[in-house]
Amino acid sequence: MLIRNVCLPDGRQGQDVLVQGGCIKAIAPQLPAVEGVQELDGQGWLLSPPFVDAHFHLDAALSYGQPRVNQSGTLLEGIALWGELKPLLTQETLVERALSYCDWAVAKGLLAIRSHVDVCDERLLAVEALLHVRERVKPYLDLQLVAFPQDGLLRAPGALENLKRALDMGVEVVGGIPHFERTYEQGTQSIKLLCELAAERGLAVDMHCDESDDPASRHVETLAFETQRLGLQGRVTGSHLTSLHSVDNYYASKLIALMAEARLQVVANPLINITLQGRHDSYPKRRGMTRVPELLAAGVNVGFGHDCVLDPWYSQGSADMLEVASMGLHVAQMTSQAGMHACFDAVTVNNARLMGLAGYGLEVGANADFVLLQARSPVEALRLRAQRLLVVRRGQVLSRCEPSTARLSLDGRPATLDWTLAQTSK
Ligand SMILES: [Zn+2]
Repeated sequence: MLIRNVCLPDGRQGQDVLVQGGCIKAIAPQLPAVEGVQELDGQGWLLSPPFVDAHFHLDAALSYGQPRVNQSGTLLEGIALWGELKPLLTQETLVERALSYCDWAVAKGLLAIRSHVDVCDERLLAVEALLHVRERVKPYLDLQLVAFPQDGLLRAPGALENLKRALDMGVEVVGGIPHFERTYEQGTQSIKLLCELAAERGLAVDMHCDESDDPASRHVETLAFETQRLGLQGRVTGSHLTSLHSVDNYYASKLIALMAEARLQVVANPLINITLQGRHDSYPKRRGMTRVPELLAAGVNVGFGHDCVLDPWYSQGSADMLEVASMGLHVAQMTSQAGMHACFDAVTVNNARLMGLAGYGLEVGANADFVLLQARSPVEALRLRAQRLLVVRRGQVLSRCEPSTARLSLDGRPATLDWTLAQTSK
């Protein structure tokens, strides 16, 4: 495959990309034609590496309304509601919903997902289902699983044993939820136990951590400490960290430096954090997203996750990582050119780094995985939630979409509006 005339996220225009053997062989303007290689006209659109979601819950996705909807809109009612749904789950419906979501993901150019999977169920039904789904989707989507003790590692009976069983079965990342344990001390103890388990088994850690408006929820401090103590630098992720929004600036300035030192990685979940947090506030209402610009400025790798789609916690969503990035841009007020580009990176390269994806990126020698977006730059892609014209993995076209076009009929002058005409220049 030879794709002619595309622009790249770094601003290069008029590039051709040659793909052979599932890899990118060359990127340059006006590459010579190669016999037997199919040519595609990129029409100057943006070729991006695929979207990556570093934080998701595939076991709960697309279950909205079962058995009822979340009335208060809080994290805690969501957890209770998921607890009502769990005994009703079957292997078949779990697989079916997860596979449907993976179809949505591919159509949106989302080709790698890190999903937490609840291990607080004796039967480990969701673990079995998602391990099966991981194999099924392997030819077109990288699914990484995190053993997640949703009801608390120490709070829920048998959770630690179930978590170990899930790891034995092939789940590859150790999860946790210290802020949901019964006491602060148990939260601390759970972090220690889980990090030791990861160190023993040579695994990565990705914990739901401090997903709260409580400025006293400071478990990430312990997570950074245990990361250092056990030599897990670069292998540990703190997800959510929403309490960091509410701590005082002095403490944040000390903490962020410690996180950078431990090479902790961070996932913010803008759609969910803005929805679930601040629910006990009157006005002003806190935004409840972690301190993204400050973490990035300190050199911490920050990705954005979708977290939920149509489940007990969230009634919206469509596997669109541009929507996630756009919400992140708004909530964190990352409106400078550099800030907007950083938001695009947060759903592409930063998440790929966080998940340790090999061969990711638009460069010679990398996997031929990419998405052609109906936009002329990452900033425009964010603004227009650009159409995914072409989704390619290992040089194979997985999905195609027609350009988004409106046919206008105004004052008897029929016209076609290419959505990209909604731009200020060009
Ligand atoms: Zn989550």
